Amino acid sequence: MTAICAQYMGPRLPLHLTEVPLPSKLDDGEVLVFIELAAICGSDLHTLSGTRSERIHTTMGHEGVGRVAQSARNTVRVGDRVTWSLVDICGTCPACDVYDLPQKCQNVRKYGHDGPGPSGTYGTHILLQKGTMIQSVPIKLHPQLAATANCALATACQLTADLPRPERALVLGAGLLGLYCAHLLESIGWEVEILEKSDARLRTALSAGFKLLSSTTDAVGLIVEAAGSSELLQCTYPLLRPGGELRLAGLVHPESQLGLSAEDIIRRCWTIRGYHNYHPIYLETALQTAPSFQARFPKPFELGPVFSLLEINEAIEAANSRSHLRVFVTPETKVGVPSVMLGTPKVLGALNSLESTP
Ligand SMILES: [Zn+2]
Ligand SMILES: [Zn+2]
Repeated sequence: MTAICAQYMGPRLPLHLTEVPLPSKLDDGEVLVFIELAAICGSDLHTLSGTRSERIHTTMGHEGVGRVAQSARNTVRVGDRVTWSLVDICGTCPACDVYDLPQKCQNVRKYGHDGPGPSGTYGTHILLQKGTMIQSVPIKLHPQLAATANCALATACQLTADLPRPERALVLGAGLLGLYCAHLLESIGWEVEILEKSDARLRTALSAGFKLLSSTTDAVGLIVEAAGSSELLQCTYPLLRPGGELRLAGLVHPESQLGLSAEDIIRRCWTIRGYHNYHPIYLETALQTAPSFQARFPKPFELGPVFSLLEINEAIEAANSRSHLRVFVTPETKVGVPSVMLGTPKVLGALNSLESTP
């Protein structure tokens, strides 16, 4: 059996759809999943534009939801709808076992960054490894929320955890990560305002009842950086009150100068924390929180357009326009079959014959 995977070919080059072999027998703890829906995360756009580096031929994509095709794990059954942690961990290194920082495991493997095999969500299948947390996803959960729970929403859950008592907060960026953070902060009593440069994203935020930054004189106790822009961040420091906290998640690329001196931090008694890959326990929190986020948007709920896997490069172009909260990719659209059918030789044959990317 084979899978079709979209592989990275270098900065500013189109992804290439390639057929890759699937194992004939799974190793203990492995789970093979048919992709129902994948989402294009902003971090992948950084890679594709060349802001971050990646190995050539890596199968890309880490956000997604799917159905179990084969399982060598007794807690997961064929047909289950699942999502999974971004990282596969060893469970025994100091980060896993002593510091409670499994997302920074010494032997970490990260989906969408793990070579040319079926290891990313831009494809028909993903092979989940033994040290990956797998969570079942309710059938009723909207596929677009389910597909973004394992990165954007789980990260937002950790970014907004362990906070002092609520006051005024500023969220930088009204992309999906920013809106998830704003929603979670509001749900625990914070008075949240958003700063964003894109008009399309501002309109979406307003339509879902989020507030935009209204005053540049009132202090905030918390700034959550989910925009990936150091200029945007640097113009907000005057708002952060003494003793306030700055939480960083969006600036995961080398162009991320803070423009702060140690003296600034010391004199204003600020706390600065970075968040990367999230602790896998937040995946469960994300799935519990997702329906309340959907409830604040007009119906029919849609975070962005869905493209066929065969149109992966058009999907990336749409994502780069920054006019959608997320753009999605599915192996199902053109084939027109339910996801439980994917993986059968007939459907894979159909996908192969449709393959059109040069
Ligand atoms: Zn992501
Ligand atoms: Zn480890």
